[in-house]
Amino acid sequence: MKKKRAKEVYTLSDLQNWSDAIANIAPPIRLGVFGDPVAQSLSPQMQNAALRASKIDMQYVRFQIAPNELREALGLAHDLKFIGVNLTIPHKVAALESMDDVDENAKLIGAVNTVKIDIGKRRGFNTDGKGFARAIREEFSVDLRDLRVMILGAGGAGRAIARQCAKENCERLVIANRTFERSKKLVDELHDFFVGPRVLGPVARLQAIPWEESAFRFQVGNADLIVNATPLGLNRSDPSPISARLLAPHLMIYDTVYAEQRTPLVSAASEAGARAANGLSMLLHQGALAFEIWLEREAPLDAMRGAL
Ligand code: NAP
Repeated sequence: MKKKRAKEVYTLSDLQNWSDAIANIAPPIRLGVFGDPVAQSLSPQMQNAALRASKIDMQYVRFQIAPNELREALGLAHDLKFIGVNLTIPHKVAALESMDDVDENAKLIGAVNTVKIDIGKRRGFNTDGKGFARAIREEFSVDLRDLRVMILGAGGAGRAIARQCAKENCERLVIANRTFERSKKLVDELHDFFVGPRVLGPVARLQAIPWEESAFRFQVGNADLIVNATPLGLNRSDPSPISARLLAPHLMIYDTVYAEQRTPLVSAASEAGARAANGLSMLLHQGALAFEIWLEREAPLDAMRGAL
């Protein structure tokens, strides 16, 4: 029988009729990413390169899953003996309630991006924060503990990044979010990490600020690293979340958004003479950590990086 290639995108209906959907597909599909939309996800390239390099006979595919399909899709992934799945927009928060067990870090962030499936158990993890820390080390050769960090966004990614910065005892953390209450709530949750003896003069070590140019301008002089954790930049017509005229050459700029072209924020950073990187390195490291959770072996980083 001739072997077939996997489809670009599978659906809930494929999961419901799995033996038909996977007839003659090799290697077997045991991993995937659930999202809506999902067609743009680069995770299959990266994870399939890792599986091949590790000589593991299985493959990873995309699933277009709507919010009202998530619970059933996660149940089917369990029943069909998947090893695990990644979750992307908009499922990371909603998935919490479909887990049998949630690791402490994911619980505190309030979002799951990696599910490990064991017999009778779906366990939720979040690798975004740690993946971010590794990306910053790789891109700028610095550790978070040495940095004054300003994060734009307090959704799933912003929360994971902020908690990682707090855990690694960064010098200063400022969070700006379009909906101020969300950044205020996050700051309140992280309060205990910042009660230590470090003194930074007149500026607070931990602060929520409004999504306003005047507030950004004041903070830039007291920041080393600015992180975009909003989706601004996913569409080519999006503005930069912070304008070039507010940026300065001393800054490191990290855009969690990745795109083939320069993102608006990366363009603004280079206009201002600042160092900048996009979210591909975070994608790589959060994916490598997920691979290690699923397969309990070291991820082949070079193969994964090459595939991206
Ligand atoms: P999310 O939970 O939906 O949160 C979105 C955040 O962006 C919220 O803080 C939201 O503010 C803010 N936002 C949305 N539209 C905005 C706008 N037009 N202007 C200003 N703020 C806006 O999404 P998420 O899971 O955090 O993901 C955010 C982005 O992070 C994704 O689009 C993705 O590009 C990136 N990401 C990258 C990686 C990676 O590996 N590179 C991993 C995870 C996420 P409100 O609270 O006011 O709604």
